[in-house]
Amino acid sequence: MIYYACMPLVANVPDPRHDWTETTCPECGAACWKNQQDEPVLAAALGPAYTVRFVCTDCALRLSGEYYGPEREPDPPPFYAIGNDGRSITCHVCGLTSWNPNDVAQKYCGCCHVFHDQREMLARLERLEAEG
Ligand SMILES: [Zn+2]
Ligand SMILES: [Zn+2]
Repeated sequence: MIYYACMPLVANVPDPRHDWTETTCPECGAACWKNQQDEPVLAAALGPAYTVRFVCTDCALRLSGEYYGPEREPDPPPFYAIGNDGRSITCHVCGLTSWNPNDVAQKYCGCCHVFHDQREMLARLERLEAEG
């Protein structure tokens, strides 16, 4: 197992702590800070099952496939889907599929009597209002 240890990017942390030395990320070459004491401490804490690799914060997040920041809400599913052949539109609200070329072109649902773009815009506004 590889443990990706974060090195703060020089671009993010212009004022290093006194025990940090400047180095470059082995993955992307960005200038970052390394605390030399981290390596033996981490190696001892993780045990022999892990290989510690020091990379910049960006690469650590990317390589470990984890995002440590605040949780982001996934985008809501669109209110409609265009058929694979591009000739039909299915409304995800009422389930109606229409092959009317005008409905497809204007993303209109004849059952809900609504344009999906409008619906999406309204939903976005509601979300913004809910977030304050
Ligand atoms: Zn990097
Ligand atoms: Zn509909």
